[in-house]
Amino acid sequence: MAKIGFIGLGNMGAPMAANAVRAGHAVRGYDIAAARCAEAAAQGVAIAADVGDAASGADIVVTMLNAGATVVDVWTRVAPRLAPGALMIDSSTIDVDSARRAHAVAAEAGLLSLDAPVSGGVEGATAGTLTFMVGGSEQAFAKGQPLLAVMGRRIVHCGGPGAGDAAKICNNMILGVSMIAVSEAFILGESLGLSRQALFDVASNASGQCYALTTHCPVPGPVPGSAANRDYRPGFAAELMAKDLRLSQDCARSSGAPTPIGAAASALYERFVDAGGRGVDYAGVIRFIREMEEQERAPIAKAGE
Ligand code: NAD
Repeated sequence: MAKIGFIGLGNMGAPMAANAVRAGHAVRGYDIAAARCAEAAAQGVAIAADVGDAASGADIVVTMLNAGATVVDVWTRVAPRLAPGALMIDSSTIDVDSARRAHAVAAEAGLLSLDAPVSGGVEGATAGTLTFMVGGSEQAFAKGQPLLAVMGRRIVHCGGPGAGDAAKICNNMILGVSMIAVSEAFILGESLGLSRQALFDVASNASGQCYALTTHCPVPGPVPGSAANRDYRPGFAAELMAKDLRLSQDCARSSGAPTPIGAAASALYERFVDAGGRGVDYAGVIRFIREMEEQERAPIAKAGE
C-alpha cells in the first residue's frame, strides 16, 4: 500500500482516485472546488486542506488538472513537501513545454517524475481501463507502473520527459477530426433518408469504425452511454477538445509538420466553443454543424424565393 496524493478531483481525477482507493492505497486528495472534494470523499478519498497538505509525506503525487500553467504552479508548491526519491505524475493533457518544465521542477527537488496523460474518457477512468501514454526516465516509469496499472489497462512508455503529452496530443487530433467526420456522416445519412441505427450498424462493422462512433456516438440511440443520450452533458467537454486541438496546432507550427485537417478541426471546435459550446460534451459539435448548415442555407433560400 502506498501513500498517494491526488490533486484535481474532476470528471477524470475523481474516478481515478477512487480506483486507487479500491486497490488498497491510502489516497489523500484535493480540488479547489468543494463539491468535487465532497464527491471524492464519498468514494473513500481523504480530503486535504490544500495542495501542500495533499502531498505531504506521499510516496506518489498525481495531478489531473486543466492547464499547463496550473500543473507547473501546483508541482512547484508540491515538490518541497516530498522526500527525495518520491514520484510526481501528471496525467493532465498539457503542452509539451509545460510538461518538461514540470519535470525540471521535480528534478531540482530530487524527485522522480512522469508525464502520463490518458485516453479512454470518464468511462475508462471509472472502469480502470485507461490507456496511459508515459514520458520520463526508466526509473520513474518502474516506480509509477504499479499505480498506473490500477487506473489503466494499457501503459505505454513513449520516451523521455514530454513524450507522453506528445503522444496524447497526436492521439486527440485523431479523435477531434474523427468526431467531426462521424457527425458529418450522420448529417449526410439523415439527409439521404438513412436511419441513424442503420448507419451505425454498418459503419461500426465496416471501415468507418472508430472510437468517436462506437463509444462517443454523437447521435442519440445507438450507444446508450454516449453524451448524445443526456443532452450532451460531458463526458469530455468541448473546451477541452478545443484545447487539445490548439495544442496540436502549436506543436505542428513549432515542428513544421503539415496537418491541414487538424487545423480545420481546431478552427471548428474554437467556433463551437465560442458559440456556446463551453460545458457541452465535444460530441455536441454535431448540433453546431447542423446549426451552421441551417445558417448558411438561410440566405440562399431567401435569395431563391
Ligand atoms: P475537470 O475540469 O473535470 O477537472 C479538473 C479539476 O481540476 C477541476 O475539478 C478543478 O476544480 C481542479 N483544479 C483546477 N485548478 C486546481 C488547483 N490549482 N488545485 C486543485 N484543483 C484544481 O477536467 P477533466 O475532464 O477531469 O480533465 C482533466 C484533464 O484530463 C484535462 O487535461 C483533460 O484534457 C484530460 N482528459 C480528459 C478526458 C475526459 O474525457 N474528460 C479524457 C482524457 C483526458
